[in-house]
Amino acid sequence: MSTPTRTPLIAGNWKMNGSLGDARTWAEAAAAAAAASANDVAVFPPAPWLMAVGGSLADAGGGVTLGGQACAWEAAGAFTGAVAASMLAEAGCRMVLCGHSERRHVFGERDADVAGGLARALEAGLEPILCVGETLEEREAGQTEAVILRQLDAGLACLRSAEDPLTIAYEPVWAIGTGKAATPVEAAAAHASLRARVAETDAERAARVRILYGGSANPDNMGGFLEVSDVDGLLIGGASLDPAKFAAMVGYTPAG
Ligand code: PEP
Repeated sequence: MSTPTRTPLIAGNWKMNGSLGDARTWAEAAAAAAAASANDVAVFPPAPWLMAVGGSLADAGGGVTLGGQACAWEAAGAFTGAVAASMLAEAGCRMVLCGHSERRHVFGERDADVAGGLARALEAGLEPILCVGETLEEREAGQTEAVILRQLDAGLACLRSAEDPLTIAYEPVWAIGTGKAATPVEAAAAHASLRARVAETDAERAARVRILYGGSANPDNMGGFLEVSDVDGLLIGGASLDPAKFAAMVGYTPAG
């Protein structure tokens, strides 16, 4: 269970889905759910919809953080199709996903590319959400911990000071979009390893850093994750595209 100092973050990653109208509808629903929730809430719309979604969120009274799905590892220049961290910040974002598994495994981002994006995010004043996770092959080969700690180390190396913001998301690649979530026990083990690694260099950061679980989380299984130690929220793909499901997840309150 999260400590009182780590307010759960419920984050919706819309990926490359939805029309502008959908995005506005989903934003309004997220804002209404957030207003009635004690959890922190963030949404990550497709880049072309960021400013419109930011407007909808503001009109609805705020309370939902706007984030980008990825940023480039360079600050500016001839990188057709890429989005700079500074552009996300200027568009109203406060967070950005770095190293989402689809960026790593579909678009070929390597640890060094992810680290570059994370560094640019910090320079632009954004809070990076560093996504780490093992493939099924890596899990079956017993490499889960080695892979996620390697990915984490590449990101931690970019932090400039103890004050730099950071959130971590553990997202096993085999659980993303497959309907096959990890078990809470598997998630807890990975999260504990990640937190222990952060503690090796900064015990205070380790105590406060939020580590989200992502991978086929939904209203039915989310309680299992949020009740185990070291899981401080969820990064949600598919279920975040259904306003009723996302609202239910935003409104989650731990039993007891
Ligand atoms: C994600 O894209 O980060 C994700 C966790 O997706 P899904 O919830 O659909 O598995």
